[in-house]
Amino acid sequence: MKRIINAEPYKIKMVEPLRQITREERQKLIAGAGYNVFNLSSEDVYIDLITDSGTSAMSQYQWAAMLTGDEAYAGSRSFYHMRDTVKDITGYDYVLPTHQGRGADHIFAEMFIRPGSIIPGNMHFDTIRGHMAIKGGQPLDLVIDEGLQPVSGHPFKGNIDPVKLENALKEHGPEKIPFILFTVTCNNNGGQPASMENIRTISKIASKYKVPFFFDVARFAENCFFIREREAGYRDKEILEIAREMFSYGDGCIMSSKKDGLVNIGGFMAMKDEELYRKASQLLIIYEGFPTYGGMSGRDMEALAVGLKEVLELPYLQHRIGQVAQLASYLIEEGVPIVEPAGGHAIYLDMQRFLPHIPRDQFPGVSLCVALYAEAGIRVVELGTCAFGEKDPKTGEVLYPELELVRMTIPRRVYTNSHIEVVAQSVIDLYKNRKSLRGYKLIYEAPVLRHFTCRFEPL
Ligand SMILES: *Cc1c(COP(=O)(O)O)cnc(C)c1O
Repeated sequence: MKRIINAEPYKIKMVEPLRQITREERQKLIAGAGYNVFNLSSEDVYIDLITDSGTSAMSQYQWAAMLTGDEAYAGSRSFYHMRDTVKDITGYDYVLPTHQGRGADHIFAEMFIRPGSIIPGNMHFDTIRGHMAIKGGQPLDLVIDEGLQPVSGHPFKGNIDPVKLENALKEHGPEKIPFILFTVTCNNNGGQPASMENIRTISKIASKYKVPFFFDVARFAENCFFIREREAGYRDKEILEIAREMFSYGDGCIMSSKKDGLVNIGGFMAMKDEELYRKASQLLIIYEGFPTYGGMSGRDMEALAVGLKEVLELPYLQHRIGQVAQLASYLIEEGVPIVEPAGGHAIYLDMQRFLPHIPRDQFPGVSLCVALYAEAGIRVVELGTCAFGEKDPKTGEVLYPELELVRMTIPRRVYTNSHIEVVAQSVIDLYKNRKSLRGYKLIYEAPVLRHFTCRFEPL
């Protein structure tokens, strides 16, 4: 038999049955959903890879901690537990909970961004980008060039280009730049990590120009694991030590706990500066809740306090990142075109190489999502022309995004290696039959974020 190298570092105590319906039923359901997988009921999905956000399985220690939640409005013991854990990992003294990551995005935008502000980063995530737009600010994505290439041998495709950053600071002046935001791992190019060396360099540039430097840390533990694996000098360090060093280079962070918090809901912000904390607390009271709960329940803060420790455990991370890497290697072995190297939380299928016979205005990514659901009950998400294609306001011409991708996101601790093998086999089968896939026509779209609700017809 084949040698097992990446067995799950946990055993199962509670199970959630999976339902498999027939291909005919799935074909009917996806037609009824307007060929948009977001319109499906999750009960009709066999393996759900639509996101890794809020979909983690909690441990027995997290569930046990939930029973001890202190639901006091003010001064909750669970808040102190969470705060002390965040402080221990980040070294930041001031911690405020939020209902989820975008709650922290909102408050940061409110505090810092004014019309005409320019905010450099590697690649800003959609929610903070939205808040920048509302405030009249302009996001500036300065990821290294390799970060935008679908296949590259670069180990840290999430790095910020320091030359581009210095040029931006010189061109716009630090007065126009309220802060620099480093997203680790870089979600928008596939969960690609940033190196410690690059983070240190960016931090130095930020201090030179006296611009605050923050992290967007939804997947900070995954980033620290990649540093340990790929960067010289970190092989013998604990993930916690690596995390502490990384956070030491910044002035604070915003976090979506729905990823590396290993919980189903929640977020926080943390910072070094007391003045900033006072300002943030004021806004928190208006938008999220009193500073010792900020939109979270006591029990959820307990689960988060435990999750933030578990996510730093090496066996957990080895299995987690190993599972994603294993899926990548199964696919690469059969020639399936994916974004390389694989990032921390997802595999991205490259539609321009997978389905070159379907023109981009016929939504090749949608075609793949529909086929993978109809054939195998697996739900994945299009991140191409449907999600990001824009119409030129003057000419009405479609502006295509750089890449035409389909994302297969792996939830944390939810699926076993056997499920991953089923996913690999199903994608490989589709790849072999790719010539039979056809394009789609858009028949309904909402004015913003159309991919969540739009409907299609097969061509
Ligand atoms: C998910 C995410 C957010 C937004 O967090 P929510 O909890 O979904 O509101 C912000 N930044 C990054 C990098 C994310 O991955």
